[in-house]
Amino acid sequence: MTLTVVKSLTYPVCVELRLISTAAHGTPGFAVAAFDVSHWREREASLAHALHHDPLTGLENLIALKEAIGAAQDEAELTRTHAGLVLLDIDDYQRINRALGYNAAGDELLRETARRIQHTAGQSERVARVASDECAVLLPPGTTAELAEGLGRRLLTAIAQYRHRGQPTHLSASVGVALYPDQAEKNARNSVQTSLLRMADLALAQAKEAGGNALVFYTLDDNPADAERLKLEADLYEAVRNGEFSLFFQPITKIHTGAVVGVEALMRWNHPVHGLVPPSTFIPLAESIELVNYLGNWVLKAACMQIVQWDAVGIRLDYVSVNVSQQQFRDKRFTAAVKKELALIGIDARRLVFEITESLLMHDPEEATRLLEALTSIGIRFAVDDFGTGYSSLAYLQRFPLSKLKIDRSFVENLITSRNNRAIVSAVVGLAQSLGLELVAEGVETEAQRDLLAELGCDHIQGWLISHALPSDELARSVSVEFAHVA
Ligand code: C2E
Ligand code: CA
Ligand code: CA
Repeated sequence: MTLTVVKSLTYPVCVELRLISTAAHGTPGFAVAAFDVSHWREREASLAHALHHDPLTGLENLIALKEAIGAAQDEAELTRTHAGLVLLDIDDYQRINRALGYNAAGDELLRETARRIQHTAGQSERVARVASDECAVLLPPGTTAELAEGLGRRLLTAIAQYRHRGQPTHLSASVGVALYPDQAEKNARNSVQTSLLRMADLALAQAKEAGGNALVFYTLDDNPADAERLKLEADLYEAVRNGEFSLFFQPITKIHTGAVVGVEALMRWNHPVHGLVPPSTFIPLAESIELVNYLGNWVLKAACMQIVQWDAVGIRLDYVSVNVSQQQFRDKRFTAAVKKELALIGIDARRLVFEITESLLMHDPEEATRLLEALTSIGIRFAVDDFGTGYSSLAYLQRFPLSKLKIDRSFVENLITSRNNRAIVSAVVGLAQSLGLELVAEGVETEAQRDLLAELGCDHIQGWLISHALPSDELARSVSVEFAHVA
């Protein structure tokens, strides 16, 4: 038989092979069918492309970069070399965007910046857009600190001059550079090495803090405090896994009768080696690694459950006060999470007070008002914590739906000796009265302080004079007389 090739076509096929045995012939045979799957392949490829690329600049996106970083880190460890990452964030992009006058101009600026970064980076380096005005360049294993830093500096120069409709615009950026693995860090941590992305991100944050137009190389600097912090950071993840947190409660009492009206829930971390780690150490750490939302939800749940337990044994408190951190408050899911928790445990929202700081309120007063209104509408009350230490506009204070002010411990501490502090407390008493807010003085340690506070018109106190913060069962035992008074 002669076969003549008429036309040669190459395309991907899916082949189906079937064994056929027909009764008539008795001998089995094969049926082969081939389907042209070039359309599927194209669709698959375009989906994968869309998933891994940024539509505005055409660069790879964060998903693709993370995958590439993971592979580069593995390879660097295997080959005992270093991979590098340069993160670049345009300074003041929002302001420039506004100054250019319209969004399309801002988009064009981003596209142009992306082009220049790509042009400056080498062939083997991967460029990605990881956030609205943030790009990254991944240097493959085999790179050095000098190469990575050199690239960062060239990027700063490459994007500096920009023309928009003939008008020169000066652009600056903050650059964070890191190398993986980082030996100093590896020694300090003794366990998992921080990822390249996180190290570069920390360096970038420092560059921004320095006021922008700066390049910072991630280093641990052999600083023992840094090493200690990193170790604690690793332990904090472990603590979440092992449930090493607990809640202590400190009573808040009426200044004249001593009756306990509520308690403040204060978190404790029972570290397997260091013992009780104070929240002033681990809350900022939890904020920096975005664990604080998780911890905040845990506190809320534990506080609600404690209310139920106390109710069941006849200890009926007006409220439990819970500290809410800035990050938690700003999380879009916060209101929904609170409502869900309340519904789940089945307690009345009026039994909860959220303590927030002045700076949290003043950061974005409009947004804060909206959030406060959403939560007060279901019954939650708000107290301003550490009052007097931040800066709050009195005009604004009046607009927030608040219930309490907690005057900061620092004013109470020197109350007896400082006329100034007495004048401040007196003014805050007047302010609370005129705004119809309950006032709690924090950190009351002596009878003399309590008596003077009463004289100045303060109605509630909290502090070691009454009780330290204690685990729920100890607290119930130690202040049972006062609890009974309320019940
Ligand atoms: P804070 O909200 O101002 O809590 C009051 C702090 O003062 C507590 O420290 C308490 O133990 C301490 N204190 C109470 N009475 C006295 C006193 O008479 N004298 C002195 N010297 N201190 C007194 P603590 O428990 O170490 O908490 C420190 C801070 O950590 C809290 O300050 C709060 O800002 C934060 N924090 C605690 N628990 C949580 C939490 O669950 N979530 C959040 N986001 N922050 C928390
Ligand atoms: Ca507080
Ligand atoms: Ca406080």
